[in-house]
Amino acid sequence: MELSTWQEVFQEKAKELGKRDTWTLLPSDSLQPSPGWIQYKQNTFARFHCTSCKRWWGSAQVHIHFHFKLSWGEGWVKMRVFKQQCKHCKAAKLEEPEFTRQNIEIVLTNLQQRIQIKCYGLKIDKNPVLTSIYSGDMKGPHDRDHCEACSMGVCKWRACGEGQRDQASARPAQKCTANRQDDGPFLPRIVPPSPPTHENPVLPQADWTPLIGVIALGAGLLLRLLFR
Ligand SMILES: [Zn+2]
Ligand SMILES: [Zn+2]
Repeated sequence: MELSTWQEVFQEKAKELGKRDTWTLLPSDSLQPSPGWIQYKQNTFARFHCTSCKRWWGSAQVHIHFHFKLSWGEGWVKMRVFKQQCKHCKAAKLEEPEFTRQNIEIVLTNLQQRIQIKCYGLKIDKNPVLTSIYSGDMKGPHDRDHCEACSMGVCKWRACGEGQRDQASARPAQKCTANRQDDGPFLPRIVPPSPPTHENPVLPQADWTPLIGVIALGAGLLLRLLFR
């Protein structure tokens, strides 16, 4: 995971608050609700890479939990990012997601808005929550058997029932050849800034139409010359 990018964007967003308070982002592998901390959850898109079989897959259900509080001029944000496992490998380890900077900015802009509302009493309801950029046309339902958030009962699909898809939040952005392990077919096809996949390689397909046209033209001229 791109921790330095998260920290960098987080500090940009903290500066944009325009307050004298300092804000610190603390990544965590376990997050327990505690008094005084406000909880905020988001889902975003990210890609995963299996360290065993080397395949890539994308998921629009990458769950992120934030707990934050502001106290005596110091703001604290704890962040837990949930992992996923490769479904093709037995006893695969939980892999960390890889986010685009664009999605990190979207997630942290939403967090910034939440902090403005909860810690600074600002009413900015008019600002819509930004939706993540999906760079994969994922197939099938969310793969709950290989999702850390689902196994802990915090994943959205588990909470809201089967078969639901957040189509409204899908916003195609770029093309991508990513493999999709899960999630809905709500996106167009695709191409990502990230490494190529091992499955479904995209091979260039020859287009013979112009060549056939040239051959037909040549044959026509030849016949005309012969029978003139
Ligand atoms: Zn694998
Ligand atoms: Zn899940």
